Amino acid sequence: MAIITGFPRIGKNRELKKALEGFWAKKIDETALHNVAKELRKAHWEIQKNLEFVSVNDFSYYDNMLDLAYSLGAIPERFKPYKDLELYFGMARGTNDAIACEMTKWFNTNYHYVVPELSIDDEYKIDASWIIAQYNEAKELGYKPKINLIGLFTFFALSKIVKGNPKDVFRKVKSAYFELIEELEKLDSNIVIEFSEPIFACGIDKKLGDLQCIYEIPAIECIYNHLSKKVKTIVTTFFEHSTELTEILLKTDIYGLGLDFVYGKKNIDSIEKIAKTNKILYIGIIDGRNIWRSDLETKLEICNKIAHKIPKERLFISSSCSLLHSPFSKESEVKMDKEILSWQCYAVEKVDEILLLESVFKNGITEANEEKWEESKNINHHRKHSSKIHKKDVQNRLKENININRSEEFVDRIAIQKEELGYESLATTTIGSFPQTPELRALRSKYKKNEISKDDYDNGIKEYIKDCVRFQEEIGLDILVHGEPERNDMVEYFGEQMEGFVFSQNAWVQSYGSRCVKPPIIYGDVSRPKPMTLEWSKYAQSLTNKIMKGMLTGPVTILNWSFVRDDVERKEVCKQIAFAIRDEINDLQNGGIKIIQVDEAAFKEGYPLRAENIKEYETWALECFKLSTSIAKPNTQIHTHMCYSEFNDIIKTIEDMDADVISIECARSGNSLLKIFKDIGYTHEIGPGVYDIHSPRIPSVDEMVEQIKLLLEVLPKEQLWINPDCGLKTRKWEEVKPALKNMVEAVRQFTNK
Ligand code: GLN
Ligand code: ZN
Repeated sequence: MAIITGFPRIGKNRELKKALEGFWAKKIDETALHNVAKELRKAHWEIQKNLEFVSVNDFSYYDNMLDLAYSLGAIPERFKPYKDLELYFGMARGTNDAIACEMTKWFNTNYHYVVPELSIDDEYKIDASWIIAQYNEAKELGYKPKINLIGLFTFFALSKIVKGNPKDVFRKVKSAYFELIEELEKLDSNIVIEFSEPIFACGIDKKLGDLQCIYEIPAIECIYNHLSKKVKTIVTTFFEHSTELTEILLKTDIYGLGLDFVYGKKNIDSIEKIAKTNKILYIGIIDGRNIWRSDLETKLEICNKIAHKIPKERLFISSSCSLLHSPFSKESEVKMDKEILSWQCYAVEKVDEILLLESVFKNGITEANEEKWEESKNINHHRKHSSKIHKKDVQNRLKENININRSEEFVDRIAIQKEELGYESLATTTIGSFPQTPELRALRSKYKKNEISKDDYDNGIKEYIKDCVRFQEEIGLDILVHGEPERNDMVEYFGEQMEGFVFSQNAWVQSYGSRCVKPPIIYGDVSRPKPMTLEWSKYAQSLTNKIMKGMLTGPVTILNWSFVRDDVERKEVCKQIAFAIRDEINDLQNGGIKIIQVDEAAFKEGYPLRAENIKEYETWALECFKLSTSIAKPNTQIHTHMCYSEFNDIIKTIEDMDADVISIECARSGNSLLKIFKDIGYTHEIGPGVYDIHSPRIPSVDEMVEQIKLLLEVLPKEQLWINPDCGLKTRKWEEVKPALKNMVEAVRQFTNK
């Protein structure tokens, strides 16, 4: 019978988000929060009831990596005074006196996990109570549960070792992990645990540094043999193929293997080897991370090919990864173009697709499945030939030959810019957005519902921009921003103004914690009918004598944060977007905007997990960024922003992007990140974030002075800008005002301003 590797937990109407935020704001109590969670789990299990199992422990109040760290008792020293939910949310979000754990992207998705900190000094006192409670809940409701757990190797590889030798720390974590499994084993005599090991899909050449030793084959074999003795063990890899590690897993006593046949087509090479064992294979063939209806006939062909080698009794259909990365259900989309909507499938519908494919795969076309099968076939046929998709002029422009380099070298450009823009060392700025207040949201929603006129809306936005400008001038920031009040989202805002995009009303997917994003859907050729940001930027610039930074989202980020059509190559779609941004940059510079920031927050998300595929991605992603920015004149300063805390692997590409200034996430990682820039001899300017905007905590002047000192140990002040880690839209004004004031004050201690 078919399975899935987890279901989205946020809820049909983002109930979990609302409950969490209510709880954090002390508007609801813990019991109320738990009740919402219970109801959600129940509803989600009901959707999964015809699968072989319902997934348990795919639910989380914040993040599954954090859950596992919590369950294993991997609690950083600074959180020791806290317990229960206060401890849990403290690790995720920070407390008054403890900085939150780092957060980073989950492989090449837009989901962020909390990075566990492992120390040899930790007690690793396990706590299985949350998992046990959920398991019992599912059983009491009459479902057949399987537990979803992040595998030990993936957990360890993604954690940060803060103290101790990796081998020793691993040993401790491993013992705790085993203890946890022993607790779970007691729940049921034939308990099933699905261990997610996406790290196995990264290949064995993945740079694991000191950790390499842990990945020695004997360790993997031995650990999964041990686990298999305790529980019915399924190991699932996803986002790529895992051929090398599959071979190892096949030698162990695990019961089943889940492989991704969507993003890891090469998994097909493992089929003969799997055939020689008695293992169950879960064919991850329904894409867990997009919104398109599957081409079920092609999928069936692949399944049948597999079935030539492996008996069907050992084969089951599954999602390519957890459905966490898909929105809930397309049932909520009542406004979308009916034809375009018919091409789509979200999590609820994907469960149906999985069941349908399983049924046709096992029983052939029958009375029970024929109608749905035909329907799916017809819809896909219509999509292929729909006139909504193809635009000749867009396709022709892609063939143009364009020089994608700036007209001057960086050294020459920066000299001109410093002269013209007149900023000094340690120039202060922000990343773009200011708080999205309830009033602002209300304004936008009234406008969308036609309750207020365009003029009323525009005036509301202008008032906000005025306030932002006044505040920034007051505290003495050097380069100003307009605050992005007109954008509810940095990608959606652009998508809404381009052709080839559609928008859902409710297709939310989790980004981190309670934060969700509603990715635009790129269904056809992309173009820009008219300027998208020009008027707002010009208005903001008209309010001040200081320099107003124009704010755009880069083509790679727009691509990576959208649901992209699956009928042409991603690089082609990206290039279409790059042309639109190029035109926008040109309009801005001609409109008097001297600094333009092209955010590439999601540049890294598109990186292939496997080394062998990286070059190709880098080449076209870089080309697209440069296609957009090379239109800038030498005296137009191009900034880019990336919210990462890991640059090791992409630093050369960052350099090749040739942005005049890059702002990066840095506050949670001291100055170690900056050293990477120094090591390669990076000459362009950098704004390392000096405070963490993901936490409501207000950093003090002293703290930021210390941070700046750390930065100055690495790079000269002429090369540095000072800014927060990221945009401020998720924060409140009460947090932003003192924090930025403190930031400017901290900089004053290093300059004569
Ligand atoms: N300019 C955007 C903002 O400030 C950048 C956000 C991001 O990097 N995620 O909101
Ligand atoms: Zn950012």
